[in-house]
Amino acid sequence: MGYDSTFFTGDDDTDLVRQALAEGRVVLTRDSGIMLRRVVKSGRLKAVLIESEVPERQLPQVIAALELAVPHHPFTLCLECNRALEARRPEEVAGRVPPYVFKTQNQYMECPACRRIYWRGSHWEAMMRRLEELAASRDSDTEEVCK
Ligand SMILES: [Zn+2]
Repeated sequence: MGYDSTFFTGDDDTDLVRQALAEGRVVLTRDSGIMLRRVVKSGRLKAVLIESEVPERQLPQVIAALELAVPHHPFTLCLECNRALEARRPEEVAGRVPPYVFKTQNQYMECPACRRIYWRGSHWEAMMRRLEELAASRDSDTEEVCK
């Protein structure tokens, strides 16, 4: 969706809180213990307790809780490392994307960190449709999305 995000891989909640405060992040968690911390209860650190284990239900909850615009700047950040993607001309990605893709696509984005190349292929189209469906479902019955 284009929102700057990171996955906390440590195991100490104190480190998670410290990192979130330092980087100005909102904590998305399934751990109700974090919600009981003074820093969260006081409102100094914003946190959302994710109710469902199902991503199709989690996303509408986050969109509603944080009043996110959908789509924001979809597919502008690397899905692997969160870095801003840079535009590339076809000749710059020649030999680095499948031949069929190279024949049919003329706009590419590259991650400057991991060098992963993105293009608006069928996966991109499917993800866009999914985001739009999830955004549309946030005010209605989100269970419909999962059937
Ligand atoms: Zn990357």
